[in-house]
Amino acid sequence: MGLLVQKYGGTSVQTIERIKQVAEKIRRAKVAGRDLVVVVSAMAGETNRLLSLAHEISEIPDEREKDVLLASGEQVAVALLSLALKELGQPARSLLGHQVRIETDNAYGKACIRNIDSTKILQSLKAGEVVVVAGFQGVDEDDNITTLGRGGSDTSAVALAAFLNADACEIYTDVEGVFTADPGICTDAKKLARISYEEMIELASSGSKVLEIRSVEFAKKFSVPVHVRSTFVDVEGTWLVKEDASMDDVLVSGVSCDKNEAKLTLLRVPDRPGLAAQVFGPIADAHIVVDMIIQNASDDGTTDLTFTVPKADHKKALAIVEKTLPAVNAQGVKVDTDIAKVSVVGVGMRTHAGVAAKMFEVLGREGINIEMISTSEIKISVVIDAKYTELAMRVLHDAFIGNQGNV
Ligand code: ASP
Ligand code: MG
Repeated sequence: MGLLVQKYGGTSVQTIERIKQVAEKIRRAKVAGRDLVVVVSAMAGETNRLLSLAHEISEIPDEREKDVLLASGEQVAVALLSLALKELGQPARSLLGHQVRIETDNAYGKACIRNIDSTKILQSLKAGEVVVVAGFQGVDEDDNITTLGRGGSDTSAVALAAFLNADACEIYTDVEGVFTADPGICTDAKKLARISYEEMIELASSGSKVLEIRSVEFAKKFSVPVHVRSTFVDVEGTWLVKEDASMDDVLVSGVSCDKNEAKLTLLRVPDRPGLAAQVFGPIADAHIVVDMIIQNASDDGTTDLTFTVPKADHKKALAIVEKTLPAVNAQGVKVDTDIAKVSVVGVGMRTHAGVAAKMFEVLGREGINIEMISTSEIKISVVIDAKYTELAMRVLHDAFIGNQGNV
């Protein structure tokens, strides 16, 4: 039997008790004949704890040193898990990102993996060891320690599976898989047996927190089969796979929401070429990611320009926009942080009409006003007043998924 990459998240290694359970689970898989590379995150809460230590010293901590600090959380976790495996009589070896040589670019705090040297891992596997690799961290070409961004251990695992050509990448977490909606909001949400990479990317970018988005992009690029499943309940989870024809029958695979955006509106901007560039150029220069944009020209030669940015960046974005106001000759700017983005996602939309119309009708019936709309080939998102988020999720889930589900 071939190679399996398994990833255990922070809650799976939260306590020594759980680390011992995880070690037992790994040992069983090994006894069943698999070669195993195991990726672990820091114990739950540890990365936040380390971050707050850095912030006690400095408001904006130096990025290089911050990555050295944050990477230590995963170092503790790999060591403890390897100890637990050895205690069970299972040979194991922990490896940090720089020891493997998981090479990244030098963007501290959000580094991208460029290459993984498989030599040490393969040697260790050959010796019969379980290789326990620290997630979330890498090393740049000048040997500086880097981290991949919050939740980055998912990306470490998928990237290792890709570079090692593993049979599959199992992501063990505290939920049983990917659901049609957040079960905390929609109690009849169902676990999906399969979901396409593209749908998962859309869900991850519209509020679903099951997988870090870059890991899914990586999985898609290298066609890595990913199995999201529970550490604590031994049942099949959700497989991320390539889209196939049978998926078209399902109009909507999932409904998601995101309350982490804020909306800015520039009022009565002159309707002329080059203006959008003048507004969005400086925002891009500040590395602020703009999500939705709408512009509506009116008869009098002016237009309102509305867009959304991550809530955490809205003050920065506002300051930038205020600076450009005189130059673009706008009448003013409005900010709204009390918004939510609600999305429906499904590859079936590619081949079926009417999903948008139905979505708007369902929301209209509940008296929920739509403030912005954006679409992709397989997703429709609307911005609404945050207070209607849960209601919108429930009525949309009922209307599109209901009791059918598609497990
Ligand atoms: N420990 C890191 C974090 O908390 C990476 C991860 O959990 O995947 O973001
Ligand atoms: Mg995590």
